[in-house]
Amino acid sequence: MNRLAVAWLSWMLAATCAWADGGPSGIVIVNARVIDGSGGPSRSVNVRIVGERITAVGELEPPAGDTVMDAGGLVLAPGFIDAHSHHEIGLLEAPDALAVVSQGVTTVVVGQDGGHPYPLAAFFARFEASPASINVASFAGHGTIRGQVMGDDFRRPATPQELSRMQTMLASELEAGALGLSSGLEYDPGSYSVPAELVELARVAAAQGGRYLSHIRSEDQYFWEAVDEVINIGREAGLPVQVTHIKLAMTRWWGQADRLKSKLDAARASGVDITADIYPYTAWNSDFSWLVTLFPERDLDRREGADYILQDMLSPEGILLPDFRPEPAYDGLTIAQIAEIRGSDPATTLVELLKADAEAGGGSPMLGFAMSEPDIEAIMAWPHTVIGSDGELAGSHPRGYGAFSRYLGHYIRERGVLSLEEGVRRISALSARQAGIADRGLIAPGYYADLVLFDPARVADRATYEDPHQPSVGIARVWVNGVLVLDGGQVTGNRPGAVIRHSRQPH
Ligand SMILES: [Zn+2]
Repeated sequence: MNRLAVAWLSWMLAATCAWADGGPSGIVIVNARVIDGSGGPSRSVNVRIVGERITAVGELEPPAGDTVMDAGGLVLAPGFIDAHSHHEIGLLEAPDALAVVSQGVTTVVVGQDGGHPYPLAAFFARFEASPASINVASFAGHGTIRGQVMGDDFRRPATPQELSRMQTMLASELEAGALGLSSGLEYDPGSYSVPAELVELARVAAAQGGRYLSHIRSEDQYFWEAVDEVINIGREAGLPVQVTHIKLAMTRWWGQADRLKSKLDAARASGVDITADIYPYTAWNSDFSWLVTLFPERDLDRREGADYILQDMLSPEGILLPDFRPEPAYDGLTIAQIAEIRGSDPATTLVELLKADAEAGGGSPMLGFAMSEPDIEAIMAWPHTVIGSDGELAGSHPRGYGAFSRYLGHYIRERGVLSLEEGVRRISALSARQAGIADRGLIAPGYYADLVLFDPARVADRATYEDPHQPSVGIARVWVNGVLVLDGGQVTGNRPGAVIRHSRQPH
């Protein structure tokens, strides 16, 4: 008998024993208000889990031998899928992922903004050898691949030979399970690519049923042209595309959400499957040094750069430095406050601080308060928008801990941007579909048992810009692949997270 046959026989014996009393034992969650992720109305039904899957949903009697779990009338929903996440940073060292599970998120989609753990097969192997509490899926980053091929000599378009090597490398990352191609075109080395380079790479992703997700080339001055570039890639390469962390991040564009939605709707009507994700905050988070790219020729002595940043894009009050490496006394202060301390004007202060940061080797984070609440709500309501935290486990922005609970508490409950059922659909079934993730995002037989039990009247974020590492409230229990990872607001220490590889379904 070969080994496969032995394995099969022993599985059959085990299964027979377990089924002798009516089947393998499971968990039945009773007394829940089930919002199944489809967008349909909530139902009072029971949900049975056996192993890592949901096996039944309905008015079922818990079979003898099953564990019965009383949900106490709370909402049971599919675990949330974070469409744009940087939670892979430090995840292998902090596998409980409190920041993530405490907001009800069970799957993070990483490899964003053009950067991914390279090579993906090695990252996935490390994760599978030592899993976290949550599932992880990843895009392949254009910047990572471009950097591998071009090294330090990236400040130019790629040659045809280099492009061909990038295509081969991307194909192998897709083979390893990447969901598609991500780009970060405001960052090096991606910012030096020409649009045709991305079209040619996106064709490789399209051929394997993948998608293209982009931190677009400009989120401020050339925003509309940058959206056009994504639409064009979707059209030319023939694959679904997503504008990631979509925003109107410049005072000049505030109030133009309708113009944006019309543009996206027109693209969809013309056959381009374009979608969006958004984080529910008015501030972005990046490296302070990134502001240098907004100066003409990246020359800090070109004062018009500082004027543009402080007048058209942000304000002296809207640039906050949570952790300014060259001068800790400025931690938590804005450019306006620091200028006052220094007895200087904001533009001079901004330039001097950027120079000091560069001399200290960079790495200081910043928060940029550049968006307006009405725009966020209007874009969130667009039928093809899902939520991505853009967060980190230990980042300096509260979104790492609070994006999903803030979405449910503030935008859904308090502001009524969407119904609860539709709000849940956006962060479960729709998010799964837009990422290309199969068998997750619905409470239905056969789906993985990624589940969250929460109190819709109480769910809220507690993380703030001053104190960004505060867990949310109102999330009672979270299961990942049928295993409880959060109970009563506490992590359980279980680590059932799986790698989610791209399944080659046609779009
Ligand atoms: Zn980004």
